[in-house]
Amino acid sequence: MSPQSFQIFTGNLPKQEKPMPILFVGHGSPMNGIEDNEFSLRWQQMAKEIPRPRAVLVVSAHWFTRGTHITAMDHPPTIHDFGGFPQALFDVQYPAPGDPQLALDTASLVRSTPVGLAHDWGLDHGAWAIVRHMYPHADIPVLQLSIDFTRNGRQHYDLAKELSDLRKKGVLIIGSGNMVHNLRLISWELIKGGGYDWAIAMNEKLKDLIMDGDHAALANFESLGKEAKLAIPTPEHYLPLLYILALQEKNETPLFFNDKAVAGSLTMTSVKIG
Ligand code: ZN
Repeated sequence: MSPQSFQIFTGNLPKQEKPMPILFVGHGSPMNGIEDNEFSLRWQQMAKEIPRPRAVLVVSAHWFTRGTHITAMDHPPTIHDFGGFPQALFDVQYPAPGDPQLALDTASLVRSTPVGLAHDWGLDHGAWAIVRHMYPHADIPVLQLSIDFTRNGRQHYDLAKELSDLRKKGVLIIGSGNMVHNLRLISWELIKGGGYDWAIAMNEKLKDLIMDGDHAALANFESLGKEAKLAIPTPEHYLPLLYILALQEKNETPLFFNDKAVAGSLTMTSVKIG
């Protein structure tokens, strides 16, 4: 074989596709879904910085179920799963298509537990409040994966690892929650920005563990001390973070964005990997 033909041969080999980045996004108030503010503008910018996905899979804090389910309909409805907000928020429709075949393929990737194909959900505000800023034309299929409330952190982490092939197939996986999230302790004085000392301390502790790659400690979040009990009084807004960390590859460094506390007891801190 001449050097020239060897060169042509290697040029024709299929390229190893770089895995899609993965995002944990602090979604905060549903109002972020319709406001152009520092958080939502960063989501819009993020969509421009990463490759255009062929589909988006959101693990949303707001779909907390017995068992694991994935939306499998052609046209997921926009769900307005909140109360007491302006009519403009209830008027939002995000008509992104679903992808039933991708739902089936994703369900078959998960061996550790059956994944139900759901036709009774759609896109809740944990998904659409973010994705409508990133992809306003609603022309990319969006699916949701539910969070099984019977599983502990370690089990969620292990389940998430089974989704790793999706990154190589151009699927953008977004975990949507908040690292620190205690609605009972919200401060109206700090509604525009600022956090209690314990909220900021916990947020910094979580960031340090993420940078150290100490996923075992992060999965066992109940053992992270008294601040953890205040910051994570219920697990549904924290667990989406574990889905993203589980998909981190060895050579990838997490990058934080929207790293800010609001309303005293929430942090918007978000993580991009890849
Ligand atoms: Zn929420």
